[in-house]
Amino acid sequence: MRALQLVDPGVLAVVDIPVPDIGPDEVLLKVGGAGLCHSDIHIRHLPVELFPLPLTLGHETAGTVVSVGSQVSGWTVGDNALVHLIWACGSCPACARGDDNVCESAGRMAQPPTPGLGPAGGMAEYMAVPARYLVSLGDLDPVTAAPLADAAMTPYHAVRNSTRALRPGSAAVVVGVGGLGHVAVQLIKTLTGARIIAVDVLADRLQAASAHGADIVLAADESTAAAILDATAGRGADAIFDFVGAQPTSDLAVETIAPDGIYQLVGIGGGAPRITAEPRLGQGWPYGASVRTSYGGTKADLIECVALARAGRLKIDVEPFPLTEGITAFDRLESGSINGRAVLVP
Ligand code: NAD
Ligand code: ZN
Repeated sequence: MRALQLVDPGVLAVVDIPVPDIGPDEVLLKVGGAGLCHSDIHIRHLPVELFPLPLTLGHETAGTVVSVGSQVSGWTVGDNALVHLIWACGSCPACARGDDNVCESAGRMAQPPTPGLGPAGGMAEYMAVPARYLVSLGDLDPVTAAPLADAAMTPYHAVRNSTRALRPGSAAVVVGVGGLGHVAVQLIKTLTGARIIAVDVLADRLQAASAHGADIVLAADESTAAAILDATAGRGADAIFDFVGAQPTSDLAVETIAPDGIYQLVGIGGGAPRITAEPRLGQGWPYGASVRTSYGGTKADLIECVALARAGRLKIDVEPFPLTEGITAFDRLESGSINGRAVLVP
């Protein structure tokens, strides 16, 4: 089968490899769509071999079951399924209470095994998946549904953990309205009564954010912080969802978070919020405000995203690419010319 692999640090290739064998507790998925995440760009450029290479990339996968291991129940050939990207242990205290995205078996840094970042991922014609990490797609199309696995689930987890701050009359800021961010706007609209302010460096992203329900759109420049404070009568944003996570966006969050606000730092662009205990010292972090990073989402989050999509309440902008053109898709995402999510179709 064909697969898109990271063969050496910085080097991608479309290669021919054997179709994987499945174990008794696994299913073989014929991949319908594999979403391309900005994290894949970060992985492409890791200077060191953080994962054993060659590695089939892709942590955002949907497909159709084509064979079922001898111990698997509940899945039948022909079922459409989405792969939960968190391959948690399922039995530690965190998993038992439903916080599988911070599975204790993954240690203090809490990054459970994730296909495409260790185990072989979904940018291939077929993928072997332990059956317990599958979620039913019902009648959703695997090509357009693939981004639910990350571009929807990851912001869903962040928004769900911020609803206490997002009462009617409050303000939410979404920084970076790309793959994750354009879904975050819709999730905030659906799950909360907050006013939504979207921020991006690219005008076409801001147009898309408006179309998806943002109330105010702001270009990311030196005037953004003042504009957010102006739009919130000087108090700041009750929640900020940062899907860039670079130093300028961390600085923006410190300058514009409200007292008791929640800064959800999802992007991994190397930013570090400079907070101080005394609000008037340093850059000025108001009392009660918190900063929270997050890895993906729980299996329950994923199931709830599928439910929203099946109810027609999430519209993901998808640009499909043949798997053989996958490296072009990486280059396009890196240059900022994908609007929404690129999905590789084997
Ligand atoms: P993307 O490239 O699709 O979108 C990023 C958006 O941010 C683009 O629209 C871009 O124009 C905009 N942007 C770039 N710099 C900006 C700036 N300074 N100010 C405002 N906007 C800016 O990326 P994505 O796939 O949505 O991923 C977003 C980030 O989230 C990445 O860092 C990715 O690695 C990370 N991520 C984290 C998790 C997690 O579990 N924590 C999961 C998935 C993705
Ligand atoms: Zn991702």
